Amino acid sequence: MSDNTLKNDEAWREQLTPEEFYICRSKGTERPFSGEYWDCKKDGIYVCRCCGEPLFSSDTKYDSGSGWPSFSQPVKQGVVAEARDLSHGMVRTEILCEHCGAHLGHVFPDGPAPTGLRYCVNSASLKLEETSDQQSDQS
Ligand SMILES: [Zn+2]
Repeated sequence: MSDNTLKNDEAWREQLTPEEFYICRSKGTERPFSGEYWDCKKDGIYVCRCCGEPLFSSDTKYDSGSGWPSFSQPVKQGVVAEARDLSHGMVRTEILCEHCGAHLGHVFPDGPAPTGLRYCVNSASLKLEETSDQQSDQS
């Protein structure tokens, strides 16, 4: 389980595409409306592209109009770490995979109820594992 945290840049480069490496390991940002999931409405769990940890559920995904996948909350507490990001002359809250430290995106206080939060995530940091069974408990 702890193998991922021991990986060096070289190992990540082997596992990830150049763009994924740039975003996940070098805190890059994909262009809006360019990613794989910003407009994705499929049901499933979005896991960390790097380590496979479940991070967000399609149940909390919503259309923020930002061009990036947006979620109102993580799939559970403790899977998403936060850090202060002072780059680009802004004060933002960076979000990272708690398990492997992959850069995910940022969280902003302009999301929908009940959390009021917008987890703005790069598609390249995520991998959707679609729910295969047909049962649906959506309200
Ligand atoms: Zn991870």
